[in-house]
Amino acid sequence: MHKSSALALFLVLSLNMAQAAEPLRVVTSFSILADMTRQVGGEQVEITSLVAPDSDIHAFSPSPTQARTLSQADVLIFNGLQLEGWLTRLIEASDYDGVRVTASDGISALTGDARQDDHGHDHGHGNGHDQGEADPHAWLDVGRAQQYVVNIRDGLIEADPDNAKRYRDNAERYLDELETLDQDIRTSMAAIPEEQRVVVTGHLAFGYFADAYALRLLSPAGLSTASAPSAAEMARLIDVIRDNQVPALFLENNANPGIIHQLAEETGLPIAGTLYSGALANEGDASTYAGMMRHNAALLHEGLTTTVE
Ligand SMILES: [Zn+2]
Repeated sequence: MHKSSALALFLVLSLNMAQAAEPLRVVTSFSILADMTRQVGGEQVEITSLVAPDSDIHAFSPSPTQARTLSQADVLIFNGLQLEGWLTRLIEASDYDGVRVTASDGISALTGDARQDDHGHDHGHGNGHDQGEADPHAWLDVGRAQQYVVNIRDGLIEADPDNAKRYRDNAERYLDELETLDQDIRTSMAAIPEEQRVVVTGHLAFGYFADAYALRLLSPAGLSTASAPSAAEMARLIDVIRDNQVPALFLENNANPGIIHQLAEETGLPIAGTLYSGALANEGDASTYAGMMRHNAALLHEGLTTTVE
């Protein structure tokens, strides 16, 4: 029997009546990993995501109920690169001893030095995101996300070798889908006039996206959503925005919109819409990882191809 799953924040239950075997119980740290795991695991896995869709992974602390859920899991999947600062304590509190998958294992990480703005000033401070530390948001490059999928596949196979073929087949299909997605985003971003390929968002999540798809990244807050920019940092950013041909600003689903509204007021630039960075949407197009990336690319393309006066 399943443990009381109604208490979990986000849960996908497999109800395959023909399948006599117990499902593999997987806990993921946040919603994007939950979707990737669902794509690879299919109906064979029962997934609980600790951080819910539309919620901020930077401002999360696990509940005792979640510690109990983890204690009964077979696989734990998390991002790594110090995204989940609360994880070590949670593992200790739950006595978890199952398979652990660090989804970002094997990717080439960007560091704080790689995401400086045009003034050479690093905004990554506070909440454990110091200069020189790895940027954790690697899933926003679909190329690197393919490595996530490989790691998730291997973790499921390690925990449940009887279903290895199923996981391999699902992963192969999903990796093909992501390959197409990566090429589509590349094409879409390349169609934006080069000098207008600038992302301004509320926190520095889009470093990998900018790296992969040749955009410049400007952001007032640090890598984490927890640190607010100083007045001097805001003033510098407004200067940079005015010096560059920035056509539009963007909100994020899991970051404070106040900073972007303030920037819009000061610069007179439009806010083109909401990008998804660290969490899926609860419903709609952006409720899967691939859908979220397509949404982001379409919104960036639309917002940035606008002619700047
Ligand atoms: Zn973030």
